[in-house]
Amino acid sequence: MPLIKSWVASANSPDTPFPLNNLPFGVFSTAGTTPRCGVAIGDLILDLAATDNAGLLEVDGGPVFDRPNWNGFMALGPEAWAQLRARLTELLGDGAAARPQLEPLMLPQVDAELHLPISVTEYTDFYAGMQHAKNMGAILRGSPDLPANWLHIPIGYNGRASSVVVSGTDIHRPNGQTKAPDAEAPSFGPSKRLDIELELGAIVGTPSELGAPVTVDQADAMIFGYVLLNDWSARDIQGWEYQPLGPFQGKAFGTSISPWIVTAAALDPFRAPVPDREKPLLPYLHSKIDGLFDIELEVQMQPAGADRPSTLSRTNYNRMYYSAAEQLCHHAVGGCGMRVGDLLGSGTISGPERHEYGSLMELSWAGRDPFTLDTGETRSFIEDGDTMVLRGAAKGDGYQIGFGDCSGRILPARQLP
Ligand code: CA
Repeated sequence: MPLIKSWVASANSPDTPFPLNNLPFGVFSTAGTTPRCGVAIGDLILDLAATDNAGLLEVDGGPVFDRPNWNGFMALGPEAWAQLRARLTELLGDGAAARPQLEPLMLPQVDAELHLPISVTEYTDFYAGMQHAKNMGAILRGSPDLPANWLHIPIGYNGRASSVVVSGTDIHRPNGQTKAPDAEAPSFGPSKRLDIELELGAIVGTPSELGAPVTVDQADAMIFGYVLLNDWSARDIQGWEYQPLGPFQGKAFGTSISPWIVTAAALDPFRAPVPDREKPLLPYLHSKIDGLFDIELEVQMQPAGADRPSTLSRTNYNRMYYSAAEQLCHHAVGGCGMRVGDLLGSGTISGPERHEYGSLMELSWAGRDPFTLDTGETRSFIEDGDTMVLRGAAKGDGYQIGFGDCSGRILPARQLP
């Protein structure tokens, strides 16, 4: 699909993450105003609460934009989603008659504060990247062999919705219990192995009932959109606590997401197939839909005082073994009800080469092989003052579908009360 031209000049640049093809949804405020829904177009935001109040949106279902999240709109369902996308494409398209009415309802993105775009109902995190699972096996157990269930089940755990914050929010280094392999007893204090996980987050827009399974194809249609997701991880806390259950405190102190929801509709031209199955999946996980997307991803680190970030890794979401739709199907198949605003983390996205790894644990091989930044400093894990940035874009013919940065700076651990 080619670029769809807009009367907003900045939206026609090949460098903007937000051309008219994208239309990502966020929540913004300006000084003295309350957070409300908006759509990014070029370097501007169109205030959708104001546009709706002016009678220009024609979305059935009542006022859903003058709210601090997109949950109300998502609950209107896929027909409303398609209706709004079509209407915005018309209103913002090159030569649109509504331009004089819309121009006063727009503001520069640099003047806005961005907030979490959804009220996160529940948060589940998966482990669907094969290279990451092999790397973690090699690092932690001395063997890249996958766990016996890995090629059959999209493995996941129930995380904490309360941990999810919008890009730009500082994260304090967590305190917790750790135990060095040669120590007799555990100790308590700030994590010494603080890490990131490069992931894509899928946002559930259509609910499923408790007890009612869904197919992979139905699950695909339930996903409203995607965000970049950094599943901050304290490896030393995780390593001591996780046996025999899953991640707990090592993951609960912060999960950052990018501020704009890139809709499934915007990503549709970039669909990519899941890889060939090394072992056949059970029939309930079968689908003919290409559930992955060709989204180029990047991890950067910027130490305090550095004037620019260093790129640590580049990979692609099409590297995953399981799609978000397969994960959502598996999540619901036993009867778990899914809700509007549920967030599903993909699992860490790592490609086969070192420069494609999606966590510092892998990039430094658990600290055994530190990496060097452009500033000349070396790192194995994150130090206080470091800012981590995830970036992502699907590249089209003369345009790109970007997500906006998913960034967070690490502050020192808090004192105990
Ligand atoms: Ca994760």
